[in-house]
Amino acid sequence: MKILAIETSCDDTGVAVIEIKGQKQPYFNILSNVVSSQVEIHKKWGGVFPSLAKREHQKNLAPTLKEALKKAGLLFSSSSILSSDGHRRGGGMGATSPTKLKILNEILAREKNLYDDIIKFLEKYDKPKVDLIAVTVGPGLEPCLWQGVNFAKALSFYWGLPIIPVNHIEAHILANWLCAYQIGTRLAPIRRAHKLFPAVALVVSGGHTQIILMKNFGKYEILGETRDDAAGECFDKTAKILGIGYPGGPAIAEIALQWKSQAPITNNQTNPNFQTLISKFGVKLPRPMLNTKDYDFSFSGLKTAVLCNFKSQPDYVKKDKNYLIEMSREIQQAIIDVLIKKTIKAAKDYNIKTIILGGGVSANEELRKQFLQKIQKENLNHELYATNYPPYQSSPHSSKASLRRKGREGNELNLLAPLKNLCADNGAMIGVAGYFSWLKKKIKPWQKIKADANLRIG
Ligand code: ADP
Ligand code: MG
Repeated sequence: MKILAIETSCDDTGVAVIEIKGQKQPYFNILSNVVSSQVEIHKKWGGVFPSLAKREHQKNLAPTLKEALKKAGLLFSSSSILSSDGHRRGGGMGATSPTKLKILNEILAREKNLYDDIIKFLEKYDKPKVDLIAVTVGPGLEPCLWQGVNFAKALSFYWGLPIIPVNHIEAHILANWLCAYQIGTRLAPIRRAHKLFPAVALVVSGGHTQIILMKNFGKYEILGETRDDAAGECFDKTAKILGIGYPGGPAIAEIALQWKSQAPITNNQTNPNFQTLISKFGVKLPRPMLNTKDYDFSFSGLKTAVLCNFKSQPDYVKKDKNYLIEMSREIQQAIIDVLIKKTIKAAKDYNIKTIILGGGVSANEELRKQFLQKIQKENLNHELYATNYPPYQSSPHSSKASLRRKGREGNELNLLAPLKNLCADNGAMIGVAGYFSWLKKKIKPWQKIKADANLRIG
């Protein structure tokens, strides 16, 4: 089957077509995954500006759909003919009758630009050969969500296709299945589900930071989440304070990379065989809620600490490359420390078999690397592998001897991280989540599909 998937929860307009082959052990093939990014537009605010994002979605949805269908080989011009009553008749779909136009008008009553674009599109092209439309209904920015939802409803109505509502957070988690299947690794989640669950998912993005217990497909429980800013938001806001670019996550990660080559090295006083990196500016940031017994996070204090430190510096320091490197490295490390500690705590407390990463921040190289190191150090793993990220494949540390010592024989801890281009918002992950919801018969009539900005998983 083929799924047309639509994502507009924040500032990315995503449309994808995915193909699912096989039933018992399905695998997902991305036929197209087009993302129209608004980064350039939001750059000057250092964050997403909802009304601008909404306007951009309206502008981008029809062209993004067109490109996605074209890339998937599913875009065909209808052999449009004019009927005797003067109405244009679309190829396979028949006339856009006044009744149909009226309903489309009602669906898109608040999206005038989208209405004009969609009519042009629908009249020009045939109904594509897809079986289902999946759309993000929440959580996200309400005005943005409605653009995708109403667009999907209009397509569902016009083409007579079933529609399935998708939870954006679940989609970030299931992005892992997409690439696991895609690159044909040995993970076959449905067949091996008993070996994967229970799992703990860490979803870290610009809008969310949650630790979620996943007992099975569709069975979720939020264990903890941020009480204020999300981790990605913290990256974005602190990068704005330092004036180093937007989005802040990749900007900070890139600058932090220079830490080792820039920081002066000295011989360690107590052990001359060791060399120590010297922090020139002594930047030390807090790790909020690191030791609390829950699985919650808080990042606003970290942001404030960065602001205070920055403000206290003389102008020449604020512009010093080494100061910015030190700051970036410390911001990234503070965020990583709490994310890893809380996730590992949940993994131990719930005796889970898999840690699943997802969301834009999970593209962070240091976060992935340190997660792996921590798991190996704690000897949590029996057979550690992540299917879709080469450095995580089969760990040499999973020796039988160490397992017997730990008494964990028969257990395995998997670490899954999506391919980097599937970490941030995209349509393909909505398609996969749509597929799993379809299996659970969650189809709804288009009239009943609604955006829900505060939708919770579980
Ligand atoms: P949302 O769903 O909230 O829009 P996304 O899942 O698209 O968020 O992720 C966007 C966030 O991911 C931004 O806050 C961005 O700074 C962050 N991000 C992207 N790449 C990285 C990275 N390499 N390191 C840290 N953060 C990153
Ligand atoms: Mg997201």
